[in-house]
Amino acid sequence: MTEKKLPAGLHRETLAVRTALPPSQWGENSEALFLTSGFVQPDAETMAHRFAHPQEGYTYGRTSNPTVTSFEQRLAALEGTEAAIGTATGMAAILLLGMGVLRAGDHVVCSRSVFGSTLNLFAKEFGKFGVESTFVSQTDLAEWKAALRPNTRLLFAETPTNPLTEVCDIRALADVAHGAGAVLAVDNCFCSPALQRPSELGADFVIHSGTKYLDGQGRVMAGALCGPSKWIADVFAPIVRTAGMTLSPFNAWVVLKGLETLGIRMQAQSANALAIARFLQAHPAVQRVYYPGLASHPQHELALRQQSGLGGAVVSFDVKGGDPQTLRRNAFTVIDSSEVMSIATNLGDTKSIITHPATTSHGRLTEEQRQAAGIGQGLIRLAVGLEHVDDIQADLQRGLSKL
Ligand SMILES: *Cc1c(COP(=O)(O)O)cnc(C)c1O
Repeated sequence: MTEKKLPAGLHRETLAVRTALPPSQWGENSEALFLTSGFVQPDAETMAHRFAHPQEGYTYGRTSNPTVTSFEQRLAALEGTEAAIGTATGMAAILLLGMGVLRAGDHVVCSRSVFGSTLNLFAKEFGKFGVESTFVSQTDLAEWKAALRPNTRLLFAETPTNPLTEVCDIRALADVAHGAGAVLAVDNCFCSPALQRPSELGADFVIHSGTKYLDGQGRVMAGALCGPSKWIADVFAPIVRTAGMTLSPFNAWVVLKGLETLGIRMQAQSANALAIARFLQAHPAVQRVYYPGLASHPQHELALRQQSGLGGAVVSFDVKGGDPQTLRRNAFTVIDSSEVMSIATNLGDTKSIITHPATTSHGRLTEEQRQAAGIGQGLIRLAVGLEHVDDIQADLQRGLSKL
């Protein structure tokens, strides 16, 4: 399963468009979608060989598929890792990471601010299999160090976080992990490789929800785990083959094509997000804005250094209000007054999305837990899309002007 022959030293923009398997005998210019569950073998000897050496040929769709391979090669080229493996969803990629890296009796240190399902996966599901997890502050390195144990095997982080856009120092965490004989995995969903490449900062594994910016148009579910070839081929591919969290070829094809425009989308959506963040920061009805691209953000310098100088496309803000009921009413007024943005919980779409974390993604927490997490009733999260920035701004102003 070789790559298309390309000259060495190409830029990332070129790799995003060109990295794939070679075309079929028909010479298609857009990569083919191979919708097939099985692959016909030329003879029994070849079939036997391919079953023993799955990297050398296609046999069955749960094991591998050429469209999925093209996606994996293209994503690895963008992340700057030796290899990548596709999974059905982003959560399946984190499950795969845990299944490959952890054994009963191992310990995990994880940021408290990671995606809610990730928290559950570590605390509840892996807990059933004798893996213990400690959850620590996203930004306080001393807490990460203090949580280390002799059996700590994995450090897991996500940056910037959802919805408060807290940024952790990937290079510093990699040093902590390696000093303790552990590995560092980073969920790179919010920035995508267009803005941030954790492996260049020392992370051992990079996780993706392909559902978000990699697809970029809100169409399909997908995930991926990026890392060294040896790990992917010897540890993770056999688990996918056995456990079946395989990425569908159709979804792989959609995300493969999404990667071609990832760079320009992330730039354009980050520029829109910065303009919206500045608008909100200056608005009298807004209490506080959370956006790494603003100089007022506590990790602004680190974010710019780590994220190719851009803040990403997620902006959160607190409306003013006072008591929790008023805050919620004000937040709902802003959300319900929008006529352009979608009221939804997804992100990473070309369509701007507006959501109320306290009653959705963080709705199952107690009021106490929510306060500890900094998720107030007045908090609104925007996943800024590709509409004209003036239209997004006007959409927000419709509600903000009523407060
Ligand atoms: C959405 C998301 C995931 C999970 O991805 P799915 O494709 O929905 O399984 C993981 N991490 C982050 C940061 C996410 O936003």
